[in-house]
Amino acid sequence: MNETTPVCETQPATTVCRDVRRPIGMLCELTYRCPLQCPYCSNPVDISRGRNELSAAEWQDVLRQAAELGVLQIHLSGGEPCLRQDLEEILQTAVEVELYTNLITSGVTLTRDRLARLADIGLDHVQLSIQDVDPEGADLISNYKGGTEKKRDVARWVKELDLPLTVNVVVHRHNIENTARIIDYAVELGAQRIELAHVQYYAWAQLNRAALIPTREQFYHSVKIANEAKERLKGVMVFDVVAHDHYAKRPKPCMGGWGRSLIDISPSGKMMPCQECETIPGIEIDNVRDRPLADIWFKGQAFEMFRGTDWMKEPCKTCDRREIDWGGCRCQALAVTGDAAATDPACNLSPYHEEFAAIAERESREAPPPFKYRRLG
Ligand code: SF4
Ligand code: SF4
Repeated sequence: MNETTPVCETQPATTVCRDVRRPIGMLCELTYRCPLQCPYCSNPVDISRGRNELSAAEWQDVLRQAAELGVLQIHLSGGEPCLRQDLEEILQTAVEVELYTNLITSGVTLTRDRLARLADIGLDHVQLSIQDVDPEGADLISNYKGGTEKKRDVARWVKELDLPLTVNVVVHRHNIENTARIIDYAVELGAQRIELAHVQYYAWAQLNRAALIPTREQFYHSVKIANEAKERLKGVMVFDVVAHDHYAKRPKPCMGGWGRSLIDISPSGKMMPCQECETIPGIEIDNVRDRPLADIWFKGQAFEMFRGTDWMKEPCKTCDRREIDWGGCRCQALAVTGDAAATDPACNLSPYHEEFAAIAERESREAPPPFKYRRLG
């Protein structure tokens, strides 16, 4: 299959063609329902947006279209995807159309029988989220009692069923001092991969920024610990560290570049270039119930809005990193500068960078306020 497809638009005097890559991955947010209430959850603060969930038959249709479009891997996520009683039907279709399947779960509702059933159907990978290595800390973060023991059981079942395991930990001021112990814990659970993701301050995390933000020193120290462990554990566990934007010099290529390789589908069928983009003024988000996936990917206004580099302003427009980080995150640019087409303030070439970094310096040194827990309704 070609990696790129020409998209042509006939204009009065000419026909303009651009090459658009096919997507590689798709995040399937099967539901926003979740027994946990993490204050950094990436689900929208207005979770009512997730009502009217796609049925299993609708997801199956989406998966068939995704495979045809060139998608190689899907992430079955949420909320908590295991709350969908029809998860098996959805997974079955993904396996039939030969998509690589990753289940992203908090694990607290799983039973061994159900996990075995998912493995029998052909599930390829499990990504288990861990809130902290200390049970009290984990209970406080998730506002859910007893998750730690259950997650240990789930990790054991994953290994018994011979499935690859990633442990996923969101890092913030309440667990950052435990970075070394969290890494040891992941090794003990038998994880082949650990994702240490410093909080990205959108959605619920933006509401809880002052409660979550670590100091610059804590951040650097935790990265040092992760780098040392990465060396020590070569061949045992792969590390994926997502850095803290406020203490960065350059932004991350958010979603690998807007409309370049990833699709997000919300529980109610909205097809988006990123989970947070509904906040961007003027964006028109298509629904998979109304329009074929390929049509949305190649021509949807939301995907076209910041695809490539034509939309960029200075300093991104002439920067030699513009096709490396793609100008960073549009939603963060909007939140901090009021302009979604501005340079991500995580970049130290942005005129807003100092102010952005100063927020973190100030808030991280004050006493943390109580969490605003993520709640449905
Ligand atoms: S971040 Fe926490 S609350 Fe949000 S979906 Fe994941 S486990 Fe549930
Ligand atoms: S100016 Fe823009 S393209 Fe250059 S490093 Fe900063 S965010 Fe990236």
